[in-house]
Amino acid sequence: MIEDFENWARKNVECCACGGTLETSICINIIELKKQATWKFPVAGHIDIPGYEPRAVAIVCDECIMKKEKIRRCIEWEGSPYQVKYHDVEDLEDAKKNMSQMDYYFGRLFRQRMLLRAANQESKN
Ligand SMILES: [Zn+2]
Repeated sequence: MIEDFENWARKNVECCACGGTLETSICINIIELKKQATWKFPVAGHIDIPGYEPRAVAIVCDECIMKKEKIRRCIEWEGSPYQVKYHDVEDLEDAKKNMSQMDYYFGRLFRQRMLLRAANQESKN
């Protein structure tokens, strides 16, 4: 399933920073931006954080990750088979949540919960 997605993305998605192909990229790098998504899919969200608004995501090639290239566009897809659309980052509203609070949340609670989940899963196996 994940391999299918990777193959699909390599063929159909352009890097949201350089606009180039992802065919030679080893990873399909999915980046969550501090911008609100106005579409349904794909978006980043957190089930552990009530009121966390859906955030825009970008897919970026390895080279742009290494060079820390500026991300210019976000991605949306819809329908079956997927139709890819791009949104300019500049056109999107900033995410409302205070980021320093969010960082704290990630730094402490989020990690704790992930560890708890991992521990639960291990004890089941
Ligand atoms: Zn790129």
